[in-house]
Amino acid sequence: MQVCGRFAPSPSGRMHLGNAASALAAWLSARSQGGKMVFRIEDIDTARCRPEYARQLADDLRWMGLDWDEGGDVPGYRQSGRAAVYEDALARIARQAKVYPCWCTRAELHAASAPHASDGTPLYSGRCRSLSDEERAARADRPAALRVEVPDEMITWTDGHYGPQKENLARECGDFVLRRSDGLWAYQLAVTADDAAMGVTEVVRGRDLLGSTARQIWLHRLLGHEPPRYCHLPLLTAPDGRRLSKRERDLDLGALRARYSAPELVGRIAAMLGIGDGSPAEPRDLIPLFSWDKIPRQDIVVPPGLM
Ligand code: GLU
Repeated sequence: MQVCGRFAPSPSGRMHLGNAASALAAWLSARSQGGKMVFRIEDIDTARCRPEYARQLADDLRWMGLDWDEGGDVPGYRQSGRAAVYEDALARIARQAKVYPCWCTRAELHAASAPHASDGTPLYSGRCRSLSDEERAARADRPAALRVEVPDEMITWTDGHYGPQKENLARECGDFVLRRSDGLWAYQLAVTADDAAMGVTEVVRGRDLLGSTARQIWLHRLLGHEPPRYCHLPLLTAPDGRRLSKRERDLDLGALRARYSAPELVGRIAAMLGIGDGSPAEPRDLIPLFSWDKIPRQDIVVPPGLM
């Protein structure tokens, strides 16, 4: 089966050095296996995303020399236009697991007494899972989120870069949201439904999303779909160990394009990932050099030259 990788950026700002590194690694991993690339725009959070950022993302990827076989900033590949796919996925999930309305407020979810998962997010207590029909009817005039009941069992998988992983969703995450009370689709549902529908077989992304992977694998199984191979990348940090954020405008593609030619930037990003010697390069020149073994597992300190 042909490998299918993907770019899945959120157009909530200009592409950043970290997004550029993920995009390059995803492209190199797929292309070095003779695979194809799908590009979708993850703009479900309509309040944070803007069409002009989506256009800019496509332009920045092309400028770097990265191409794709399907999608881009075109209809059908923007999550904001894919509600029917998510409705269908929700219905399929609801046939396999208990999906129920939840009226808990943010304050209730974050109550000091709530147990917290290792990443600091509160573990959902399951409070609304056992509401009676009368209790539900009494709340029906208020908008509800939809949660899915998770199993108390260990989900195990092998990350393509970080090796064996395991998570018990009931103990470490709790029933999670598929659709928010404001009607927006949750990231976990949209990303899984899209990866399944688009035939994605390999997901390459930052290690900050490693903690979402068990939820996504489980949803793929409920959808009757073989989960993709997940390969997470180390995060980029400033020399003082701080994680880089989108707020660092000097590391967005606007600023970087003003300072470097595309091959200069691509060569430097590749070298941070352990690929090549940092000299200017087109992405396609790097395909034969690419190997997951070369990429560090420790977070990567951005060299002072780039910062
Ligand atoms: N859209 C997400 C982001 O830009 C990435 C989602 C994913 O790779 O699963 O952070």
